[in-house]
Amino acid sequence: MIYDFLIIGAGFSGAVMAERIASQLDKKVLIVEKRNHIAGNAYDEYDEYGILIHRYGPHIFHTNSKDVFEYLSHFTEWRFYEHKVLAFHNNIYYPIPINRLTINKLYNLNLKSEDEVEKFFESKKENRFPILTSEDIVVNQVGYELFEKFYKNYTKKQWGIEPKELSPLVCGRVPTRTNDDCRYFSDKYQFMPKDGYTKMFEKILKHKNIEVILNTDYKSILDSVKFNKMIYTGPMDEFFDYSFGKLPYRSLLFEFENHDTEFLQSSGNLNYSDLSVDFTRVTEYKYLTGQIASSTTVSKEFSTSEGDPFYPIPTEENKKLYRIYKNETDKLKSIIFCGRLAEYQYFNMDQVVANTLKIFRNKI
Ligand code: FAD
Ligand code: UDP
Repeated sequence: MIYDFLIIGAGFSGAVMAERIASQLDKKVLIVEKRNHIAGNAYDEYDEYGILIHRYGPHIFHTNSKDVFEYLSHFTEWRFYEHKVLAFHNNIYYPIPINRLTINKLYNLNLKSEDEVEKFFESKKENRFPILTSEDIVVNQVGYELFEKFYKNYTKKQWGIEPKELSPLVCGRVPTRTNDDCRYFSDKYQFMPKDGYTKMFEKILKHKNIEVILNTDYKSILDSVKFNKMIYTGPMDEFFDYSFGKLPYRSLLFEFENHDTEFLQSSGNLNYSDLSVDFTRVTEYKYLTGQIASSTTVSKEFSTSEGDPFYPIPTEENKKLYRIYKNETDKLKSIIFCGRLAEYQYFNMDQVVANTLKIFRNKI
């Protein structure tokens, strides 16, 4: 048997690509996944207490793309969910993204209009031009003091480097607001897959032209499988056996805890802004999933430089190494590199879906 396509990885990139190839081109696809499950980092499962958890940390779906939302709607129903986060600083919880309520609470003010908040930010902010780093983008909006309280140390914990070494795209993901909107995201579509991500992936992959092999590193089967084209969604540097050096990825360790109470926290995520706490955030999954149960499970996130590659680290230096690898990927005409790890891009799930659909349209 000769497969038309061998796809490495069963995350969003690999699964969406397989679905398109199988359903639109009627071609045979083999997906090889080294973990013991599908869904990549979006994988969810029931823990021993019967609570639906995200094995690799909180995954909240949000998008402005009608196309992406409609595409995924073929494989899942949705549950409306607008994520809310509180930041813990100096023993007090504040709404994050920074908004009018955050400012009033922190400075004991009573700013009422958006205009007043705008003026407050004006009085605090430093003009930074050009905006080259994550420090620049925040300080240019709200000033150094708020940056120091809510971004500097959290970012240092999360990335292991200072915000002034990171691309503005990192801290720029979090908006600043002058109103009292406490939602973490501003996107038009904010929904969670009703039965979870893994169930959605099962439907994406349910096609007579798609076969999936788990627990297998693709390198171990390359000699025994025949295929015409490869789509690779694993880490870019690993594909080339690190021949130009290691591309840094940030990893995480998760500590899961079940508590015999209905809810432990007052929101889906608590972010720990200070260095005195060594984890970055705690997620309470029942907020995300809407599950009703008498106990609750939370996970604490500790950032590390060792372990599974979770986040590409957007610095100038890493961009240079990325370009060297990118140059190599461009030379390989029968292998397509697709996804957060394979393209070394800090993509959200919706961006990965949009990116995969685009690669399918233009390159397959
Ligand atoms: P992955 O999901 O990483 O899939 C790649 C797959 O390839 C993996 O399953 C891997 O095991 C497999 N693989 C790698 N090497 C090999 C090999 N040699 N052989 C076989 N298989 C291999 N996005 C959002 O939109 N909202 C969120 O709230 C959100 N939260 C996140 C929280 C965390 C902690 C993390 C890490 C990411 C988060 N994301 C979020 C991003 C989201 O996880 C990614 O955008 C998406 O999962 C990327 O899909 P992918 O298929 O490109 O990569
Ligand atoms: N960030 C921060 N404080 C916060 C929330 C976010 O400093 O309370 C910074 C941090 O550097 C983080 C980045 O903003 O990595 C992007 O935040 P996001 O919540 O999007 O991170 P992700 O969910 O991708 O881990």
